[in-house]
Amino acid sequence: MPIYALQCSAGCGQERDIYRTIAERDRDLPSCCGTVMARKVVAPMVAPDIGPYQAVAVDVATGKAPVINSRSAHRDFLKRNGYTEVGNESVGRKAGEVRGDFNLRGDLTRATREVIGSKR
Ligand SMILES: [Zn+2]
Repeated sequence: MPIYALQCSAGCGQERDIYRTIAERDRDLPSCCGTVMARKVVAPMVAPDIGPYQAVAVDVATGKAPVINSRSAHRDFLKRNGYTEVGNESVGRKAGEVRGDFNLRGDLTRATREVIGSKR
């Protein structure tokens, strides 16, 4: 969702940023000095593209490790070759899934009894 900059329509100098969808950017704008604040035209914040880098893996299309010079080239390179970035690989688990034979309550009970028992 984009951030929009607002300024006081009465000219007091008050500015404010709001976070809205494009469709709702002018809906229910806050007020200042008794008037609805106006949207201010500012330069958009755009994330820069990635700088060029030498891939360490070979491209199936050329048989060579290419120089990648944009995010889209990076995505296409990974997809075309079936590569996965280090850190983005699947670990074969669903989100929130816990594996193993855990008995936290039992472990805590046993540990508590050991500590209490050792002091008596
Ligand atoms: Zn104002």
